[in-house]
Amino acid sequence: MVNGSKQFISGAGVNDVYVCMVRTGDDGARGISCLVVDKDMTGLSFGAPEKKLGWNASPTAQVHFDNVRVPVANRVGSEGEGFRFAMAGLDGGRLNIGACSLGGAQRCLDEAIAYTKERQQFGQAVADFQNTQFMLADMATDLEAARALLYMAACKVTEGAPDKSRFSAMAKRLATDNGSEIVNKALQLFGGYGYLQDYPIERFWRDLRVHSILEGTNQVMRMIVGRDLLRQ
Ligand SMILES: Cc1cc2nc3c(=O)[nH]c(=O)nc-3n(C[C@H](O)[C@H](O)[C@H](O)COP(=O)(O)OP(=O)(O)OC[C@H]3O[C@@H](n4cnc5c(N)ncnc54)[C@H](O)[C@@H]3O)c2cc1C
Repeated sequence: MVNGSKQFISGAGVNDVYVCMVRTGDDGARGISCLVVDKDMTGLSFGAPEKKLGWNASPTAQVHFDNVRVPVANRVGSEGEGFRFAMAGLDGGRLNIGACSLGGAQRCLDEAIAYTKERQQFGQAVADFQNTQFMLADMATDLEAARALLYMAACKVTEGAPDKSRFSAMAKRLATDNGSEIVNKALQLFGGYGYLQDYPIERFWRDLRVHSILEGTNQVMRMIVGRDLLRQ
């Protein structure tokens, strides 16, 4: 019988199945098991869709469990293995969010290059101002640095390297922070038009912001990296 609520579930109320980490034993990590809960199970219900700054293509809501009876056949692995499964999935999830930031930032860099070449101010293209070229140069440099680290972390996860979790945390932190900063600079280069919904940048600005929060906040990423460095 499962009882409780989980805040902030992407796809809640839309998804057909919910892979849940539930407490089935004592207080420690070994007291958590992994269950697959079907949407139509009695006692499962959902909160209203959250109203968000961005990520509006993906619904987010609470999931409520009220005496949900889940058969043993729906348990993934053995009792007490849930925490281990959750940890195993986190590195890949962090790379995924980092990659989303890289994609959004690349699009906004491309848009900023095209726009500043076209937009004329004070008798010349905005791209001709040295400030614009320096901003574009920093955006491209920060993007490539984040991309290189993310690819390196992805290789480590694929190979099962002992430092894969530290690299995934470093890559997620850098890609999401750099991604938001690059989009912010792109918005600046669009001037007032960057703030309008008629142009693409403001949506990326809102959508990428949550990547520094999702899959563990970037403060938690620093905690993972710092602890791992000190353990060596
Ligand atoms: C749009 C959206 C979709 C989401 N989808 C899902 C989903 O599908 N599944 C899911 O499980 N979750 C999901 N989440 C939840 C998300 O993973 C959490 O919001 C995130 O991990 C942060 O947790 P919190 O909101 O409780 O913040 P808190 O933990 O309350 O953090 C508040 C602040 O305190 C800081 N902080 C917390 N602990 C420490 C510490 N030890 N040291 C230093 N600083 C600290 C944080 O960095 C942050 O700045 C989603 C969230 C959003 C916004």
